[in-house]
Amino acid sequence: MIIDTHCHLIDDAFQEDVEEVILRAQEAEVQKIVLACCDEQDFDKIIALCNKHPEVLYPTIGIHPENMEEDVEKQFEHLFLNEKTEQLLPSLKAVGEIGLDLHWDKSRLADQQRLLCRQTEWALQHNLPLLLHIRDAMEPFLQQCREELFPMAESMGKTLRGILHCYSGTIEQAQEAQRYGDFLIGIGGTLTYKKSSVPDIARAAGLSRIVLETDAPYLAPMPQRGHRNEPAFTRITCQALAEVLNCTPEEVAEQTTRNARELLCIKDLN
Ligand SMILES: [Zn+2]
Repeated sequence: MIIDTHCHLIDDAFQEDVEEVILRAQEAEVQKIVLACCDEQDFDKIIALCNKHPEVLYPTIGIHPENMEEDVEKQFEHLFLNEKTEQLLPSLKAVGEIGLDLHWDKSRLADQQRLLCRQTEWALQHNLPLLLHIRDAMEPFLQQCREELFPMAESMGKTLRGILHCYSGTIEQAQEAQRYGDFLIGIGGTLTYKKSSVPDIARAAGLSRIVLETDAPYLAPMPQRGHRNEPAFTRITCQALAEVLNCTPEEVAEQTTRNARELLCIKDLN
């Protein structure tokens, strides 16, 4: 079994054929798929789709930094602090995808950090791990961990846990993150790209710290690069990772599935 720990099946790219996409994933042994949530609209769609495929699709809740509105406090409260979300709590596997993104817009870092802090606090309160999207922002993220998130977790008697999704920082930054929490590295299609630094990251992390993901419909692995990505392609990344780590695809599938199950608390067997 392989688990795709990060996917956007509710994206318009899958509107026509999502059922076939789920079927193809199963045929490729990608039996479980975690749906990353970027905002409130996503959340409703994710819950509806997951209800159709229990024990295959798993929901998360979160506001992506790029989907941030003007009033982040209001946006947070609207999605997280209501009866509907409370009722759905037992089915949720993570808070994400959340994080910091300074790739396009650097002007609202303070708002991004505020939103990340609120969502992290909520995750800690409910013992949920984080799906973290950190793009061109690893240093501000580490600083926030050091000064705000780690002390907050400590004061609550909890541990920061999560996945550094589509990790693009350095080996040293990944190691520093480990000082503040229990963070696994999410590895997807970018592993297979020419001149990618991800093989080195993967070797440094080791199989016990890695989970697989697609980020579909984005970032398809070679030779599908440029086309729509889908959960079935997690298998391609699994094979590529086995080559990088000098082990078998079965070993990669088994260990990354165990890592994902433990972190995300996915207990269904089949
Ligand atoms: Zn994503």
